Amino acid sequence: MALIVQKYGGTSVGTTERIENVAQRVAQSHARGDRICVTVSAMSGETNRLVDLGNAIDPGADRREADVLLSTGEQVTIALLSMALQKLGCPARSFTGGQAGILTDSAHSKARILDIDATRLHAQLDDGRVCVVAGFQGRDGDGNITTLGRGGSDTTAVALAAALKADECQIYTDVDGVYTTDPRVEPRARRLERITFEEMLEMASLGSKVLQIRAVEMAGKYNVPLRVLSSFEDGPGTLITYEEDGMEQPLISGIAFNRDEAQLTMAGVPDKPGIAHAVLGPIADANIEVDMIVQNVGDDASTDLTFTVHRNDYDRALEIIQRVGQEIGATDVTGDNTIAKLSLVGVGMRSHAGIASQMFEALASVGINIRMISTSEIKISVVVDDKFLELGVRTLHEAFGLAADE
Ligand code: ASP
Ligand code: MG
Repeated sequence: MALIVQKYGGTSVGTTERIENVAQRVAQSHARGDRICVTVSAMSGETNRLVDLGNAIDPGADRREADVLLSTGEQVTIALLSMALQKLGCPARSFTGGQAGILTDSAHSKARILDIDATRLHAQLDDGRVCVVAGFQGRDGDGNITTLGRGGSDTTAVALAAALKADECQIYTDVDGVYTTDPRVEPRARRLERITFEEMLEMASLGSKVLQIRAVEMAGKYNVPLRVLSSFEDGPGTLITYEEDGMEQPLISGIAFNRDEAQLTMAGVPDKPGIAHAVLGPIADANIEVDMIVQNVGDDASTDLTFTVHRNDYDRALEIIQRVGQEIGATDVTGDNTIAKLSLVGVGMRSHAGIASQMFEALASVGINIRMISTSEIKISVVVDDKFLELGVRTLHEAFGLAADE
C-alpha cells in the first residue's frame, strides 16, 4: 500500500466535467488501496480573473487582502473535487492550506513554506479518506492566509509529499510527460521515461515550462520521486528522480531553448582590473539579472565584454552600458534583442568528451553561427540568431539521436 500525493493543475480542473474526471482517477487509485492526498490548482483562468478583480479596485492593494482574494480560487476546486469524490462513494474531505497544517512565512504573495504539521492529514488518511488540499496557499504564524507565488501548487504538492513521506508525488497536467524537446518545435520529440532532478532543473531554468523550478528544487532536496503525467490519458509519464548507480545514462536527455534573452556588447574597453565590475556593477545595482557573460582579450590591450539579460530588461540595460561605455572609454556599445538560446542537457555529458564539438559541428553543418557559448557540468548553451531557433533545435535533436524512432 503506497502513499501518493497527486496534483492536478488548472486545466485538469477547468470545468465541473473535468473535475468529475479527476475524481474518477483519484477514486480508482484509492480503490487500489493506495492512500491518496490530492492537491489542486484553481480552475484555469480563475487566478487571473481574481487578480483582475483586485486590480480593478486598487492595483497597489494590501498584499494580505490580495492573498485572501487569490486563495479563494483553490478553495472552490477542493470543495468541488471532494463533492465529486463523495458522489462516487469515495470518502474524501477538503482542507485549505492552513487547515492542512501548511505553515509559511508572512511574505504575502510569495510566501515560503516553513513547516507542515501533517497530523490532521495523517489521521484522515489512516481513516481511509482521501485528503483534498488547496494548492498555492498556507497560513503564517499569526493565522493570516498566505499564497506561495504564481504556479505555487506544484510546490504545495512536493512539500506535502515530503511532509507525508509519500512514496511518489504525481503531477497531473495537460502533457503526458517531459519530452526531449518541445513537440511544437520538433514533432519527433520523445517522452522521456525518466530524467534526473539535476537535468529537470536545468531544463526548467532554461525554458521548459512543464514544472515549476522551485518544486523541482524542493523534490531534489527532500528526495521526493516526482512523476509528470497526463490527466486526460493513461500512461506512465516521466519519472524525475536521482541518478541510479551503475545505470547507463543517455548522453543527452533533452534540448531546451528560449527567446527570453537579449545580448549586450561593449567593445574596445581598456584591459585592466575592475572593468568587468565597472560594467556589470551598475547592471546589478539596477536589479537586472545577468545570465551569460563572455569576455575576450584582444591583442591591443583592449577587451570586449558581452553578456545577456532578460529581454524585458534590454532597454534599461542598454541605456546603462551606453552611459558606462562613455565613462570608461569603450569604442563601441551594441545590443541585440533578436537572439535565442539553445541548450543541450544531459548528465551523461559528465563522463563523455566531445559533446560540445559534436554540437558545434551539427550547427555549423546547417550554417548556424554561434555567438556565445556557456557550459556547466551537465549542459552546453549557445546563443544564436533567433531566426535559427527551430532549425537549431531540430538539427541537434537529430544529431544526438533523440527522435522517437531511433
Ligand atoms: N492558481 C495559482 C496560479 O494560477 C497556482 C497554480 O496554479 O499553481 O498561479
Ligand atoms: Mg498552474
